[in-house]
Amino acid sequence: MGRYAGFSVLLAVAVATAARAAAPTAPDAAQVLEQLRRAPKNLVLLDQLRGALATAQDSEVVAQGLAVYCLAAAWLDRLDEAHAAQKSLATRFPASPYLKALSWEEVSRVCGQCNGSGERRNAPCERCNGARKCPACRGKGKVAVLSKNPLNCSACNGTGRCAACGGSGRGDSKCAQCGGRGRIVARTRAFQLYTALLKPVDAQVGVAP
Ligand SMILES: [Zn+2]
Ligand SMILES: [Zn+2]
Ligand SMILES: [Zn+2]
Repeated sequence: MGRYAGFSVLLAVAVATAARAAAPTAPDAAQVLEQLRRAPKNLVLLDQLRGALATAQDSEVVAQGLAVYCLAAAWLDRLDEAHAAQKSLATRFPASPYLKALSWEEVSRVCGQCNGSGERRNAPCERCNGARKCPACRGKGKVAVLSKNPLNCSACNGTGRCAACGGSGRGDSKCAQCGGRGRIVARTRAFQLYTALLKPVDAQVGVAP
């Protein structure tokens, strides 16, 4: 029994030593937030924040960090990451006042081009510009390669029809305006909200802007 107790003491010492050794390479969320206050556009720090938040124990600072990261991601036009951070905040801190500070209506608006669907239905084919013809052979179905006998065009298998749209000249495509996401980010507003939320917790008058 004594042998086992001795072993677990050794193990505890080893774990504590490892934790101390790892500390300098893994800054905690509070440290990173402090640095971001001075350099909010530092993307390396934002990356460190994301890493710190993923492993940190739940605390007020972590809730703030998730909200900060959400708005920073919106400012960087990374809506997927912003959504993920918001989801994480809502799951880990369902009663957090920071949740109220994250309003999609303020940082993004519905894309007017596609009405938020992210798609353009029955739009002119991007490959052939709606011309229906195979762009590689310009609709001839044959391409001349050195020899005098033209070969079948491999892009359209010799049909002369645009392979992307099957010759219809139209198809569904991603909305070019919003990149298929259905929303357009108001990056300047997102940056304002992001830096406002970076202030130390006790310096904030409420959380809502
Ligand atoms: Zn086409
Ligand atoms: Zn062709
Ligand atoms: Zn759109």
